[in-house]
Amino acid sequence: MNNDNDLFFSNAEIKEIIKKHNTPFHIYDEKGIRENARKLYDAFGWSKGFKNYFAVKACPNPHIVSILKEEGCGADCSSLPELTIAEKVGIKGNSIMFTSNDTPANEYKKAFGLGAIINLDDITHIPFLEKTAGIPDIISFRYNPGPLRKTQEGNVIGNPEEAKYGLTRNQLFEAYEIMEKKGVERFGLHTMIASNELNPSAFIQTAEMLFELIKELSEKLKITFEFVNLGGGIGIPYKPEQKAIDLKELGESIRSIYVEKIENAGVAPFKIFMENGRVMTGPYGYLITRAIHEKHIYKEYIGVDACMANLMRPGMYGAYHHITVLGKEDAPHDHKYDIVGSLCENNDKFAIDRQLPEIKNGDILAIHNTGAHGYAMGFNYNGKLRSAELLKKRDGNIELIRRAETTKDYFATFDFPGSKYEFLLKEGEL
Ligand SMILES: *Cc1c(COP(=O)(O)O)cnc(C)c1O
Repeated sequence: MNNDNDLFFSNAEIKEIIKKHNTPFHIYDEKGIRENARKLYDAFGWSKGFKNYFAVKACPNPHIVSILKEEGCGADCSSLPELTIAEKVGIKGNSIMFTSNDTPANEYKKAFGLGAIINLDDITHIPFLEKTAGIPDIISFRYNPGPLRKTQEGNVIGNPEEAKYGLTRNQLFEAYEIMEKKGVERFGLHTMIASNELNPSAFIQTAEMLFELIKELSEKLKITFEFVNLGGGIGIPYKPEQKAIDLKELGESIRSIYVEKIENAGVAPFKIFMENGRVMTGPYGYLITRAIHEKHIYKEYIGVDACMANLMRPGMYGAYHHITVLGKEDAPHDHKYDIVGSLCENNDKFAIDRQLPEIKNGDILAIHNTGAHGYAMGFNYNGKLRSAELLKKRDGNIELIRRAETTKDYFATFDFPGSKYEFLLKEGEL
């Protein structure tokens, strides 16, 4: 959500919440997440068996993944802990997609053991997978179109030719043939070449490209495809002037290409899958933080109690995240601030030269669109601890769905004489 007036909580509500839960924290909106998921499923309702495999990395909290499961989503995983999240919330077998790259053996073993659809990133992973886990009954390959596909400006993944992912076009033909010879009968095709993309034509072109490729692959190799996975990457409007993709229109556009390139061309029908992360949860999360310092030197700074360890995107990509000063939504935005965290890194800034209302110490700031790649990208640099995650449930109640880390958690992975004893003893002081 990209303006001051579309928050899912009131100022008074947040005041109540912070009496119980210290800032900073991320808070998510169950209702918003569910309604959006239903819109996506409705948009692709024409496609029998449509599924969005939620890219767990966007918001790897089992409570959130579980909500999306109830809305029909599978899980797109790329590590052992992500696979374990899917397993623990009861997402089973082919409802898990394992789209990894540079994959260690134990992760293939786990994915294979869970019966996940394994989406291979390279042709050399065929013998690697066979040796470490075995040959599954269904296989998918990730396609990298390289120079055959130019990318849109501002795309995080970048130019396909420079991207480390996927197989070349020629390798794909070889790879499916190898798998077929090994007895595999169920096939899927995948690509993921856009991220945070707001131009629907990018997805329409991708669908067209993959549909044509499936036609060619099935004709040449005499195999049938069970699914195509169009990848994730649907963007969200971070900036006030940006507009969300109309999912219904996107679904309809892809439908007409499916009718033309697949149905009318007599290609065997297949399911359409996506693996969106960002669009599923991004707009439905906020990072709530408190102003604790103001500083006037060459520029005006507001220091907050969150830092880049709680939300990395502005520091890492220069990404814009809208900021609302709660209770001052309608006050004149006549101050220009850098909103900063406490890391000893000068790029620890949530906003640079942002026009905002005058901010006083103690004011609560809501940083928008942190429901995806927010908490998820958190880290412990500078000894900073990860925050809590809260969920506003459909009935309006607030649930703590992950507690904040404590200093004890920070010390949990090392062992030096006396440390455990002392920290156990002094937990109350930390
Ligand atoms: C990150 C990722 C996604 C999800 O991307 P979003 O931009 O969050 O939709 C899906 N698939 C793969 C393979 C990814 O790496």
